[in-house]
Amino acid sequence: MERVRALIGREKALREVSQALHFGARRVAAAGVGAMHVTCADESEHECVEAFQHGFVHYLLPALKFARQSAFRIANLGGRYEWGSVRIAEDHFATPPTKDAGKLLVVKINAHVAFEEEPAPVVRSGGPAERSYRFGFWKRYDSESACCGALAELLGGSTAPFVEELRESFHSEGRDRVAMLRDTTRVDPTLRALHAAIVSARLQARKATLDIQDYEPVSPTLYFVLPCVTINRHERDTEILCGIYSLDSRGGNAEGTYVGLGDDPSAYETWRQNGLFVVSDGEAAVERRARDHRALVRDAWKEQRIGTRSVVRDERIERIQRDVEQNKHHHHHHAKKLLRAALPILAEVAPVPAAILLFAEGAVGIHHAFRVQQLAREMEKSQEARQILDEIEAKVDHLEPDHARALIELLMQEYAR
Ligand SMILES: [Zn+2]
Repeated sequence: MERVRALIGREKALREVSQALHFGARRVAAAGVGAMHVTCADESEHECVEAFQHGFVHYLLPALKFARQSAFRIANLGGRYEWGSVRIAEDHFATPPTKDAGKLLVVKINAHVAFEEEPAPVVRSGGPAERSYRFGFWKRYDSESACCGALAELLGGSTAPFVEELRESFHSEGRDRVAMLRDTTRVDPTLRALHAAIVSARLQARKATLDIQDYEPVSPTLYFVLPCVTINRHERDTEILCGIYSLDSRGGNAEGTYVGLGDDPSAYETWRQNGLFVVSDGEAAVERRARDHRALVRDAWKEQRIGTRSVVRDERIERIQRDVEQNKHHHHHHAKKLLRAALPILAEVAPVPAAILLFAEGAVGIHHAFRVQQLAREMEKSQEARQILDEIEAKVDHLEPDHARALIELLMQEYAR
């Protein structure tokens, strides 16, 4: 994947990116290759889909029917990764030859931004003649049009449901990246729409990565998750590969690494080289470990609490605590019974610590990651914590016995009498 790595942060022809991916994938020599492509629903993304189809999918994927190869695709407003989707794609491409030998799954996630340039160069005072340009708007069918319209709505403060979903990602880990993008002292307004698209692709790729880290694939899989930004132009479109997540479950360890641009839009430096854009943030070439978001939540929580316990004065909880102290929960039916009793009470009296701890221990889906991070910072969000506890309560019967025992122990340790 060296050739692919060399593309990070550099605007290239769409064909060039798909071709580099194609050659990189061939070098992996996997028994099978699968692909998933997430894009915005905007018709301007068709060219990007086509380039991936003709440069990668057509050559490497198994034939779905005679001479027809097809990537697993999501197209929605803003190119949002849908929780759980990579698992379904992985299941589809777990073809018989890959059952033991393993496969490669390429997950390409594109955000997009329009780019338009003035036809004639403008001479700025003292400087060289330059063509002025703009990102984020263009003339579509002869009318002025935002592109990506979904990201423009996010930056404009809309509260439409798809915008709320985008916003949850943009606010993850307590950073308000929308405010950063709108702050002219932190992000050059000329580059705002480009930087918004880069951040968006990067955050959606993170979601896919969290999903991958949190489950066991059907057949052993090497995943490449690739955040990309399509630059929609009146001439042929181009693309910036923003980074590469690599996660390899073939050795039984899908922990993963990331190399590429970070998620802080105010850290990007953008310049032009021979008319094409280059983006860097000083860290783009440094390979780092993909983080474990369950552990991150637990650590943030511990740090904030510095050894204190949550105080609950409730007879019912005290009874459960006595049972746990007397090791009665070692009988696993009893552990589940205690959990079933404790969860609705904690939901009522102090839901936030329980939701955080149980999320950290894997008792509820990874798609709650950003919400739980928020809980760990702002303790007052009890309603959201209650919903998470309700979801866990509904699943108590399906817990492994040892897991149920560990969870009730952990909860009773957290709440002081
Ligand atoms: Zn769009």
